[in-house]
Amino acid sequence: MSELQFDSEIIHKINEFKEISKEEILELAESAPKEILFDTASRIRDKQKGRTVSFSKKAFFNIINLCRDTCSYCTYKAEPADTKLSLMGKETIKELAILAKKYNCTEALFVTGERPEQKYSEAKKWLKDEGFSSTSEYLIHCSEMVLNEGIFPHTNAGNLTKSEMKELQKTNVSMGMMLENSSPRLREAGMPHHDAPSKDPNARLNILKNSGELKIPMTTGILVGIGENIEECIQSILDIKELYDKYGNIQEIILQNFHPKPKTSMFQQSTPEEDYFKTVVALCRIIIPDANIQIPPNLSPENYHEFLSVGINDWGGISPITSDYVNPEFSWPNIQNVEKKCNNSGFSFKARFPVYPEFISLVNDDLKQRISLIADEENYVKESYWK
Ligand code: SF4
Repeated sequence: MSELQFDSEIIHKINEFKEISKEEILELAESAPKEILFDTASRIRDKQKGRTVSFSKKAFFNIINLCRDTCSYCTYKAEPADTKLSLMGKETIKELAILAKKYNCTEALFVTGERPEQKYSEAKKWLKDEGFSSTSEYLIHCSEMVLNEGIFPHTNAGNLTKSEMKELQKTNVSMGMMLENSSPRLREAGMPHHDAPSKDPNARLNILKNSGELKIPMTTGILVGIGENIEECIQSILDIKELYDKYGNIQEIILQNFHPKPKTSMFQQSTPEEDYFKTVVALCRIIIPDANIQIPPNLSPENYHEFLSVGINDWGGISPITSDYVNPEFSWPNIQNVEKKCNNSGFSFKARFPVYPEFISLVNDDLKQRISLIADEENYVKESYWK
């Protein structure tokens, strides 16, 4: 169907917040004039979220970057002999937590590879020397440690079991796990998740379901441009929506644009076209109108306005002290510059905790109290505190 034949009845339905079918969403993606699609998404964001964009001031704790799996786009994962190998001992974690607090970060982003101890004897031995039998046991301990230094852990450690999540929930104000994409096709031979059993869509969706049953404020999202098609992106967003509606715990959806990395088998593949990525962002806003939708600001440093104009309302974590170890070639922007760019595009800019305000009611009383103590500090509301 050409753009001229596009049935604008769908836009009327969207404007009236009526349910639209997957076929209609697909038609919207393929046939709607882009300016109408983007403008619709932007207006929905304005209506649902206003014109304020948030971010979380964080420190990235690269706890263990060995990984049992292999995704063909990943350069985060290290091998034991690599210079980039990271095994963060307790003392180093404590020191970084103290530094993060000094810089007024509120988030300790804990990242690990997928159950490294299952593949690497080095990881198993290192954990044992630290006094732990698994990565998750170590994360539980370190979460308590950083919380006691006054910053809030947000763990992103892949496919955790429900009981591991339940333990982490005591200290983590929120947790994260990217769905990436719910298409099983991406696990076929030659596709990016072929050697990554943890990226099995059913396993990932089950973890999100477990987080819903445990009422953990949860961050998830999709990685765009890894060989999927628009229909698979739409289905992934619809799968997230189903859990979002059922459990009410998905606090944010990250839409991350793929970038090819040297020394990976996807090095020759290009980044997704900006129009395609913007279409995915706009569709996400249309499919889940009141969701918090984030794109990482370091992966699209030149065109914030483009993404603000298709419906995002969050920039995610920005760190003044550590790299983005998943995308180390993209440095974090200066926070004042992000604010300036937001203001220039007609948006205000504000700091948030790693749990969004509307999801704080889900965390336990101890965490609520710790959050309110910091939120009440006069300094927190002062702009200088988080810049
Ligand atoms: S993306 Fe995650 S699961 Fe995949 S190889 Fe990298 S660290 Fe492992």
